[in-house]
Amino acid sequence: MKNTNFDQKYYRGRFAPSPTGELHFGSLLAAMASYADARSHNGHWLLRIDDIDQARVVVNSDKHILSTLEHCGFQWDENVTYQSQCLNNYQDTLLKLNRTEQTFACTCSRKQIKEQSEQLGIKNGVYPGTCRNHHKSLTTSQEHAIRLKTSGDKLSFFDHVQGQYTQNLQKEVGDFIIYRRDKVFSYQLSVVVDDFHSDITHIVRGFDLLDSTPKQIFLQRLLNYPQPDYAHIPLAVNQNDLKLSKLSHAQKVDCNISTLVLAANFLGQKCPDAKEFDNKDDFWQYLVTYWDINRVPKMEKQMILV
Ligand code: GLU
Ligand code: ZN
Repeated sequence: MKNTNFDQKYYRGRFAPSPTGELHFGSLLAAMASYADARSHNGHWLLRIDDIDQARVVVNSDKHILSTLEHCGFQWDENVTYQSQCLNNYQDTLLKLNRTEQTFACTCSRKQIKEQSEQLGIKNGVYPGTCRNHHKSLTTSQEHAIRLKTSGDKLSFFDHVQGQYTQNLQKEVGDFIIYRRDKVFSYQLSVVVDDFHSDITHIVRGFDLLDSTPKQIFLQRLLNYPQPDYAHIPLAVNQNDLKLSKLSHAQKVDCNISTLVLAANFLGQKCPDAKEFDNKDDFWQYLVTYWDINRVPKMEKQMILV
């Protein structure tokens, strides 16, 4: 049975690759799951290039990703958006947040954060709150990050694959960065602003972003944005338990029907053999017709040999 949240008036989904290399099998899964889920609800499916962190961008990889997606048979609606062209939106939102006094300047280095956490017996990686009450000016020329004050309340949401997920931001994450010391808007801030501006209602993406979701919901609530529906699909790992990504030297997707079938089956979709499909359109028609998100395995990761 479909969840009632899916009976909305409209559905707008998206795929948001970072242009840091070719489209590999891991990102094909996120593209396929978000696409099939959108199309099976007669929804729109948008593409966004997450190039906010220009230092990580590989020149022309956006073009390669788009052409691979096209070659695989994906069809997107509307113009492709680029984060690098939305800086005004992030800036406006940052100013808005600064006015709420929920933000503060942080000059801590990674080393200082680690030392402070150890001293206070706080979990490694959790911001110990050092600068929270120092009221350092946000406008000094001194280099600083901007963090958001989190709350100690439990934040919970329902994920359409992983089920109920709860996090205490204060305890498990700490006040998190929305503007980096190197003057880059953070991933959390930019994604929330982008999804709002594109009127995204459903987000289907990899498990690695599950624990970012409470931060994003926290931001949405502060900004009075509607909360999209979420689904986090398992990650594909190789035999060495490494996520299939640029780091593990995952290969570029070849777009054969057999690769598409492999991806669909990884997503639990019991797809017929590749030879049963005359062409890619035939495959997509099948997948969209029979797509069932309830079949996607409720797991963090699964091994795949590609
Ligand atoms: N650009 C992000 C990534 O490639 C995905 C962003 C998102 O889906 O929220 O990991
Ligand atoms: Zn600090």
